[in-house]
Amino acid sequence: MAAKKTLRSRLSLSERAERVSAARKDVEARGETFYQGASGIHLSAFPPKERWDDWVELDSRAWPRREEHHYMLVPTTCFNCESACGLLAYVDREDMHVRKFEGNPEHPGSRGRNCAKGPSTINQVTDPDRILYPLKRVGERGSGQWERVSWDTALDAIAARLRAAIIEERQNEIMIHIGRPGEDGFTERVLASWGVDGHNSHTNVCSAAGRTGYQFWMGADRPSPDHGNAKVIYLISSHLEAGHYFNPHAQRITEARANGAKLIVLDTRLSNTATHADYWLSPQPGSEAAINLAVARHLIITGQYNREFVRQWWNWEEYLQTCRPELAPTFESFEAELVTLYDEFTFDYAAAESGIDAATLREVAETVAGAGTRFSSHSWRSAAASNLGGWQVTRTLVLLSALLGSIGTEGGLFANSWNKFVPKPIHTPPHPGVWQELSWPMEYPLAQNELSFLLPQFLKDGRGKLDTYFIRVYNPVWTNPDGMSWMEVLSDPAKVGCFVALTPTWNESAYLADYVLPMGHGSERHDTHSYEQYDGQWLGFRQPVLRAARERLGETVTDTREVNPGEVWEENEWWIELSWRIDPDGSLGIRQYHESKATPGTKLSVDEYYGWMFENSVPGLPERAAQEGLTPLQFMRRYGAFEISKGLGAQHAFAVPQEELADVSVSPLGRVYTSTAKPANPNIVPMGAPVPDDQGRRAVGIEVDGVVRRGFPTPSGKLEFYSSTLASWGWPEHALPGYIKSHVHPDAMAPDQLVLLSTFRLPTQIHTRSANSKWLDELAHTNPVWIHPTDANRLGVGQTGDLVRVQTDIGYFVAKAWITEGIRPGVVACSHHMGRWRPTNQDNGQRQMMATVDLAQNGEDWTMHTVQGVEPYASSDPDTQRIWWSDTGVHQNLTFPVHPDPISGMHCWHQAVRVAPARAQDKQGDIAVDTAKARDVYRQWLEMTRPAGQISPDGLRRPTWLMRPLKPHPDTFVLPGT
Ligand code: SF4
Repeated sequence: MAAKKTLRSRLSLSERAERVSAARKDVEARGETFYQGASGIHLSAFPPKERWDDWVELDSRAWPRREEHHYMLVPTTCFNCESACGLLAYVDREDMHVRKFEGNPEHPGSRGRNCAKGPSTINQVTDPDRILYPLKRVGERGSGQWERVSWDTALDAIAARLRAAIIEERQNEIMIHIGRPGEDGFTERVLASWGVDGHNSHTNVCSAAGRTGYQFWMGADRPSPDHGNAKVIYLISSHLEAGHYFNPHAQRITEARANGAKLIVLDTRLSNTATHADYWLSPQPGSEAAINLAVARHLIITGQYNREFVRQWWNWEEYLQTCRPELAPTFESFEAELVTLYDEFTFDYAAAESGIDAATLREVAETVAGAGTRFSSHSWRSAAASNLGGWQVTRTLVLLSALLGSIGTEGGLFANSWNKFVPKPIHTPPHPGVWQELSWPMEYPLAQNELSFLLPQFLKDGRGKLDTYFIRVYNPVWTNPDGMSWMEVLSDPAKVGCFVALTPTWNESAYLADYVLPMGHGSERHDTHSYEQYDGQWLGFRQPVLRAARERLGETVTDTREVNPGEVWEENEWWIELSWRIDPDGSLGIRQYHESKATPGTKLSVDEYYGWMFENSVPGLPERAAQEGLTPLQFMRRYGAFEISKGLGAQHAFAVPQEELADVSVSPLGRVYTSTAKPANPNIVPMGAPVPDDQGRRAVGIEVDGVVRRGFPTPSGKLEFYSSTLASWGWPEHALPGYIKSHVHPDAMAPDQLVLLSTFRLPTQIHTRSANSKWLDELAHTNPVWIHPTDANRLGVGQTGDLVRVQTDIGYFVAKAWITEGIRPGVVACSHHMGRWRPTNQDNGQRQMMATVDLAQNGEDWTMHTVQGVEPYASSDPDTQRIWWSDTGVHQNLTFPVHPDPISGMHCWHQAVRVAPARAQDKQGDIAVDTAKARDVYRQWLEMTRPAGQISPDGLRRPTWLMRPLKPHPDTFVLPGT
C-alpha cells in the first residue's frame, strides 16, 4: 500500500491521464459505463449522475448477506466553512430519511471531494441537542428559562418592533450580525429593502487584514490563486489543513506538488501544511512582511522581475509624479528608484527580524525567482490577522506576484472578482439612506469591514443603542475577543432592546437572547454562492434536500418547514415573511421587494426567487438545462452547481470593446472614463465597484501603450504599488508595500513575555458549529497550549499535560501544556474552536462538547470555572452513551482585549502573555477577566487612529471605491457638518 502511494505521488498529470484512459478502456471492455465527472478527472468512485434517482448500495452491516438500499441522491452545499463544497445527500427511498452525505462530483470547485466536516453534516442533522422549535425567554435575560412559541408569535412581535423603529426613523437601531454568510447578498438585500444600514459581519476578526492587502493593490479583496498549475506556491496560511477555501485549494495544491511544484510555507507553528512544505519557515510572529520584502528586494536587485509587466501594469508613473517629481518621469527612473526603496531589507535584516537564517531566505528567494509567471500565493488569516499592520503582510506578498508578472497567468494569481459570479436577483432595492456609525465609525475610514468586535465598547461609550439585534450563524460572546464585554451589553436591555438568535444550535450568545429561532443546517436551507477557487466561474446551489427529493417524486412543497425536522425553518422564507409583516399593506415601500413578479400582490416564493435568477442571470444555464429537458431551477436542484466559464485569463489586459468607448475622457495618467451606464457584458468583467472621476463619470479602462484595456478596479486602473488612497487619507508613510513592526515585536514586549498565537484552528472543527458533530468531536475536542521544550524548561513546566496559567493584559486562562518542537521558542500557541461552555443555569446545550461552568460576575471582574466536563448521556443517539472524553479545552478568547488595527480595522489577534505553571487552586478551563482593563486597552488602540473628520481629503467618511457589503446611498458618505 505504501509503495503504491509513493508511485501515485510521482505520477505526472499526463501519466495519470494515460492511466485514466486505460481505466476507461477496461471499464468499457466489461460493458460498463465509465463515469467521468465534471472535473474531468476519473471519478469512478462516485455514482454516475444518470443513476442519482435510484442508486443502490449494499448494507455493510448486513454482510455477508447482500442487502440492498435504494437511494435518491440530492445535491446541496456544505455549510461548514466558506469553501461551499458540493455534497450529495443519500436519501433512503424507503423512508425518505437522509442516511449520509458524500461529495458531489458535479461540483466544479470541490470535484467530489470533501474534508471531514462535509460528511459530518449528517451529525448536525441528527444531533439530539439541536433546537427544533422557536423559543422565547420567560425569565431574566440569561436565566435559562424558555417557552416554546409559534413562529407567528415570534414573527409578529419582532416585526412590530422593526416597523416602529423604521417609522420612527430609528433605522440605526436595527442590526443583523452575520457569522458564516454562506450566501451572496440575500441578507444585505433584505436590509436594503428595509432602508437599514444594519449589516454587520465577523470579517474584522477573520480576514479583513488579508483582504486589505489585496484591496489596495488590485481593487479586489481576495485572490484567486491558480495553485493547480503553479510551479512555486507560497503560503502564509495553512491551506492544506484549514485555510481559505480549504479543500478546493488543498486538492489543487496537492496536484501541483504531484506535478513537481515547490511549496513554501510561512507558519510559526508546524501546521499540517508546513509538514508538506519544501521550505517551512517558522518566523518570529509579525516578521513575515520583512521576509517578503527581502525576497522582493532580491528579485529587484538581481533583475529577476518581469520588467515589461511592471512597466505596463504598475502605477509607477503616479508614484513618480506624486512622490519623486524631481525625477525624470520614465520607467528607467522608477527602476532605479525601486532598487533603493527596499535597500534596508537585506537577507541579514530579514534574518534578524524573523530568526530564519539568511542563507535559507536567499534559497527561498531564488526558488521564487524560478517560478516566473507560475507563482501562486495566498495570505489570509494567519499573520495578516494577527499583527498590528498585518495587512502589509499581504501587500508585500502581492508585491512578489506583481514583480514576477504572475497575475492573470496560468499558475499565477487572479482577482477574486474575475472568478466569482454573483447573479442578479429578482429585486434590487435601493441603497439605504442612513449610515451606521456603530459599524462604520469615523475613526476607521479605511477599515475593510465593519468594526464588529468594537460594538460592546461603542455601546458602552453611549454612541448608540440597538432596538433589535439579530445574530445569524454567529456567536459573538464566544467568537470575539473580550467576550465578557459582549455579555455585559447583551445582558443590558437599555443597550440591546431585543436580541434575536437565528441559529440551528445552542451557543454561548443565544443563552442571552430574547428569541431563539431554529434555522436549518446546510441540507435544510436555500442559498447561492460562488467562490474563486481556480480560473473559472461557478455557481453553487444549497437546497433543502428533502424538499428537492419530494419534488422529484412529484410532490409540491411550498414551505421548507414541511420537510425540515421539528419546526426548523430556513432564512430565505423567514426574511420574506418577516418583511411582509413589517409592511403588511406595502405602504412603507418594503413589501414590493418581497413580492412575486409572476403574481403581483402575492408573496415571493423561493422557487420563483431562484427560478428567476437561474433563468435570467446565469449565462449558459438555461441552454444547458434545456439540453436535458429541464428548467434552470430543475437543473440546479438536480445537480447543485453549474460551471459558467473557465480559462478566463488575464481580464485586466482585455481590450475594452469599441462600443463601450463612446463619450470617453482620458486622464493625464491614462485612466479612461465614460458617461455611459455600464459595461456591455458585466458577466465578462465582473469587477468591483467602478471608480468614478470627480464628475461622477465611470472608469471604463486604462490606456496602456495606446490601447484601452480593462485594467484593475483601483483609482488608477493599474496595480497600485503606490496607494494614493492611503497617502491622501492620512497614512502616506504606508502608501507603499512595507513593514510595520507588530505590537508583539520583541522591541514592544517585556523580557518575560511570550507571543501567544491563537489564530489557528484544527481542520476538524467549525468555529461554533461543530460541538454537535460527534465524529468531529471525537477527532478533536481540546486545545492544549503548545510550548517549546526550551521554554517549558525555563518556565518550570514539567511535562505535557501539566496545567499552565496564561496571563494576558486583561486576565488569564488555565490550560494543559503540550511540550513540542512544533512551535518556535518564545512563542506559545493555542487553537481556537475549543472551550465551549454553558452556564449551570442553562439546561440546553451541545452536551457532546460543552463543559458546564460556574460563571460569576463581581462588578467588572468575571470568573469562570468548569463544574462538569463532558460525559456520556442518554439521548436518541446511542453514541452519546459512548463519549469517552471529558476535557473540551479552554475558551481563551475571553481573556483577549480588542486590538483594532488603525488602518484595516482588523482585530490583531496575537497577545503578549506571561506563562507560568498553574497555581494550586487552578483548574483546566479556568478564566478570569477584568472588563475595566479591557476598556483601557480599547482606548489605547483607539488613540492610534486618524479619524475621517480630521484627515478626509474630500469631506467624505470613507473613500467611495472601497468595498462595503451593503453600501448606503452616496449622500450618506458626506461627513456631518460638511
Ligand atoms: S472544505 Fe470541508 S467544511 Fe469546507 S465546505 Fe468543503 S467539505 Fe465543507
